[in-house]
Amino acid sequence: MCMTWLEIIGWNKKQNGGMKWLQRRGCYMNHRVALLSSHFSPFSVVMASEKEAALAAIPSDSPTIFDKIISREIPHHVVYEDDKVLEFRDIRPQGPIHILVIPKVKDGLTGLSKAIAPPNPQRTSASEESHIDILGRLLYVAKLVAKQEGLDDGFRIVINDGPQGCQAVYHIHVHVIGGRQMNWPPG
Ligand code: AMP
Repeated sequence: MCMTWLEIIGWNKKQNGGMKWLQRRGCYMNHRVALLSSHFSPFSVVMASEKEAALAAIPSDSPTIFDKIISREIPHHVVYEDDKVLEFRDIRPQGPIHILVIPKVKDGLTGLSKAIAPPNPQRTSASEESHIDILGRLLYVAKLVAKQEGLDDGFRIVINDGPQGCQAVYHIHVHVIGGRQMNWPPG
């Protein structure tokens, strides 16, 4: 969304200090746009598209844009990677810091509501299917990257699920958003 807004005003990336600066500055712009949007209809249209994208998305186990990020088919900005998890900056940041945490193998986990566990998670054998380990890992590395990004005063973790939860990409992901004061209730 902020990139769209920057494009609208003709912002020149090369003249203004590179992608990192642009991304962070764009986020502040984004926050201002959020404040302005209720008074200025063109921005309201841009804001609405986020929700519309989620409502237009069809929940399925098909490959998503995140598979292309994992396979490096499309460019992205990785901030953390291990054998199970990838973290990269969100293309439409909702704060000065906005990172997505995803499992490299989706394993049917299109969203949190699809998580499965054996009847007694305390006695899981290696052969029993369970998403408990990867869910714990996603949250743990979310905390690691928050520390890495200097979010010592706090941050927000979001997992959108399904159309009403405003989920647009059906490959489970944790949003780590920080660098500004959050509000409650969320939108
Ligand atoms: P959700 O609405 O919870 O499904 O969030 C999906 C997120 O993916 C949104 O915040 C998008 O901005 C983000 N996103 C979509 N495409 C990309 C991409 N190519 N690189 C980084 N983030 C993306």
